[in-house]
Amino acid sequence: AIPLVVAINTSLAARNGMLVRDRIAMERARTLDTVVFDKTGTLTEGEQGLVDTATVDDVTTDEALALAATVEGDSEHMIARAIREAADDRGVSRGTAADFEALKGRGVRATVDGDEIYVGGPNLLSELEGDVPADLERFADRAGENAQTVVYLVREGEPVAAFALADVIREESYRVVDALHELGLEVAMLTGDSEDVARAVAADLGIDTVFAEVLPDDKDEKITELQEQDKSVAMVGDGVNDAPALARADIGIAIGSGTDVAVQSADIVLVQNNPMDVVRLVKLSRASYRKMR
Ligand code: ADP
Ligand code: MG
Repeated sequence: AIPLVVAINTSLAARNGMLVRDRIAMERARTLDTVVFDKTGTLTEGEQGLVDTATVDDVTTDEALALAATVEGDSEHMIARAIREAADDRGVSRGTAADFEALKGRGVRATVDGDEIYVGGPNLLSELEGDVPADLERFADRAGENAQTVVYLVREGEPVAAFALADVIREESYRVVDALHELGLEVAMLTGDSEDVARAVAADLGIDTVFAEVLPDDKDEKITELQEQDKSVAMVGDGVNDAPALARADIGIAIGSGTDVAVQSADIVLVQNNPMDVVRLVKLSRASYRKMR
């Protein structure tokens, strides 16, 4: 049987915009030490737009965009969407890609006109071991300082263009970090995005700990690392790539508009997609379970 106080609690939670999939998680929220947030789509809107492009000398911006949009043609990633949109806006037409492959947490790969083309971030570059031309490196540094995400276009092993994409931090994210600090909790961020972008966003929000350039399959290990320091950890995320970390955390919290896999891996779902509801959850848990003792 479900103890009465837990039953009361879940209906209270429901009234506060939370769907409780694991009732015990509600009680555990009282003793949390650390809340870990995914960045993209959780702390940020997750709607990226292309803001700038850099290319090597013999490649024009339109050529780079056309090629990148061709390779990204079959990707559902928001970076892919942003690149296709930018290509459409400039009226450049896409070619035909063969052998498309999505590289989880890294980027995409395809063959276009017989050339092997990649589009992807720092994780991809370090894997391909290609030298980044100085111009593109400077462009990427500047974009990183502005919290913009950079992905590269790599043709036949050579980086030939870089794209800077900007996302927007959610209004609520600023208040969440402050409010969690006031409750005595540590706040961390876990992202596949570059160190630069992660640091810029974390500094903006006042986040204590940053894990950046983490591959999807390694996200749950970061949760374990914190747990091994004797911390009770909540993970908040929206993506497929967050699912293992949500499952591993003491409390997995999914953004309601997130992917099905994330929602199914979570103990609690934030139905209103508002990260502030994490604060409400902790307060509700503390208030309810205090009465039990
Ligand atoms: P996050 O943890 O921020 O939600 P992902 O794990 O989805 O990010 O992606 C991590 C990184 O991999 C991105 O920041 C980007 O550099 C690269 N990446 C992933 N998918 C794509 C894609 N379709 N096109 C270009 N880059 C991609
Ligand atoms: Mg995400």
